[in-house]
Order: sequence, then structure tokens, then C-alpha cells
Amino acid sequence: MKVLLNQRSNRPIARYIHVSLYNTHNIRLGWIRAHVGHLGNEKADELAKEAITSTEAAVLTVPLPRSSAKQDLKQRALAKWQRRWDDGINGRSTYEIIRKVGLRNHNCPRQLIQFITGHGPFPSYLFRFGKQQDNCCACEEPGTPFHYATKCRLTLSYHLKCLADQHIEAWLKSITNHRLLRNKIIDLLNFITSQEYLLKFEQPE
Ligand SMILES: [Zn+2]
Repeated sequence: MKVLLNQRSNRPIARYIHVSLYNTHNIRLGWIRAHVGHLGNEKADELAKEAITSTEAAVLTVPLPRSSAKQDLKQRALAKWQRRWDDGINGRSTYEIIRKVGLRNHNCPRQLIQFITGHGPFPSYLFRFGKQQDNCCACEEPGTPFHYATKCRLTLSYHLKCLADQHIEAWLKSITNHRLLRNKIIDLLNFITSQEYLLKFEQPE
């Protein structure tokens, strides 16, 4: 009832009732004590009972407000994205660490995602997508995230320990769960980004 008092309501059903009221001049609204004996109410009761007891399926279509439709579509898209991520075959090592999809991933900084996925300012990645002539670091070894974080002599102060027999996925997982190690990776990525040309292998002329 409240929504009908708002002349500027955008809800389709409210607009419909407003227009109906505007175009009909013999409507009288009033409160009545009981249903019994009032033809209109008796008819409404009868139709309501019929709708409940009817075996025929009745489809009632009520237009959704735009905000609800947007929210619904967003939820469906996220659910579809999650199913595809759960059942996919690519990026499985990343999946082991980041299982839940989302539009915002506050728990995982951008630099950490770049490191885990390998999709960042690394020669290995840039070469794969044709942005660099080879996949080498300036030290002439393949410039992968793992190389910079554990082996490269140009990034010594950012190195993390990785035991020889430790599985790479378990190692990555231990980094993401440890605040200080995460910060070290963030610093490493910031360094690589700022020193991109220094860390690039120059082909001899
Ligand atoms: Zn290197």
C-alpha cells in the first residue's frame, strides 16, 4: 500500500495501479470489518481458494525490479564461472591455491596472483605471448617466477628458500599462507616491474 502513495515509484506493478486509478473515476477505497456478505470480497476469496486447490499449473509473472535482476544475473554468472573453474583443465596449479572465483580477491594481492599464475612481468610470460624475443632473464636463465624468487643472482635480496624435494604447489601454498613471505613476493614483483629493462636478456647484435 505504501508504494502506491509514492507517485514517482518505478516499480511496474505500482505504475500499472497508478495508471488504472488515474483512468478510473468511480473507485472508492474503504476498510471493511469482515468478508462475509460483500460480493467483491466473496469473489476474491473464491478465486484465491480456486488458485490453491486447482490442479492446473498457474504461472504468475511479476516483473523483477532492475536491481534484483542485476543481482540475480551476477550470481548466475559467478556460479557458472565457479563451475568452469572447478571442472577446468587449465591453471590447475593456480586452482590448488585460489579455489574460489570472485570479482574482488581481497585476500590475494595482484602481485601474488601474478607470481602464482606466472602471468606477470616475467620473460617466460612475455615470450609466450610474443612480447619478447626470448624467455631469458639478463642472467641468461629462463626468467620464470620461480627463477627470480629462488635462483637469480640479480634478485638475491628477495630470495625465498625452497627445499630441493619440496613440491612447487606445496611451496606456493606455504607462501600464500604466510604474511611475511607474501610481502616478500610483493616486493619482488614490484622490483621486477620497476627494473624490467635491467632484467631483460639483451640479444648480442
Ligand atoms: Zn636471472
